[in-house]
Amino acid sequence: MTTSARDTTHFGFSDVPLDEKQGRVDDVFHSVARRYDLMNDLMSGGLHRAWKDALVAMAAPAKTTAFRHLDVAGGTGDIVVRMLGAAGPRAEAMLLDINADMLAVGRDRIAAAGLQHRVQIVQGNAENLPFPARSFDLYTIAFGIRNVPRIEAALAEAYRVLKIGGRFLCLEFSSVDVPGLDRAYEAYSFNVIPTLGRVVTGDAESYHYLVESIRRFPDAAVFSAMLRAARFARVAHRPLSGNIAAIHAGWRL
Ligand code: SAM
Repeated sequence: MTTSARDTTHFGFSDVPLDEKQGRVDDVFHSVARRYDLMNDLMSGGLHRAWKDALVAMAAPAKTTAFRHLDVAGGTGDIVVRMLGAAGPRAEAMLLDINADMLAVGRDRIAAAGLQHRVQIVQGNAENLPFPARSFDLYTIAFGIRNVPRIEAALAEAYRVLKIGGRFLCLEFSSVDVPGLDRAYEAYSFNVIPTLGRVVTGDAESYHYLVESIRRFPDAAVFSAMLRAARFARVAHRPLSGNIAAIHAGWRL
């Protein structure tokens, strides 16, 4: 699909020219990079750790054979470190993100885990991956896809770089569907999270964006249709914590 300079997309609740979104997203993550992990724990009460563990359990990385994992929009490296912790010694990972400040934090975490020889770090764009076709057994993207301006382009790239028989897993916020929890979650999101963001990172605006971007992300049915349109097979999703988040899965067959 071709795009023109006049095409728009959303940045939180605002509509912006398609070509401006990435720059704005980059500003958000430059601003919060050093406090990003701490904020995740504070905002979710540690729940994001359980969601990421569920992603790793679904991926079931190989214990004995060679295994190549690509984590896109991998930021501070939480997913690659968890995945390699669950995988066998022949597993390797590629951590890709567009933002050098997020990757710098990731580099420290990977070194602290003693995994620097098994993880390559690449600064790049999910919409245009710098890898040959059919390179990876597993593609993951956690809390990343809603930040990418052209989601269809990122999904097409995910499909392209997966081997035949490779797995796609996307962990993303979803739409709470438990009566009562939905209202509490709404109030928490719009009142508590930006305040927490201001206190911890000095940047409430970035956390307004976070909350708003979650509301603009397509629901599970629409996102599943996008995965099928990108040619993924056996598309499914697993709700987490009352559908606050969900794992979307598909295969390249
Ligand atoms: N996956 C990590 C995690 O779960 O903690 C980080 C998620 S963070 C909310 C979103 C990440 O997406 C940021 O590190 C940001 O730089 C990255 N990102 C945004 N647009 C991107 C793009 N077009 N290509 C690659 N990464 C992108």
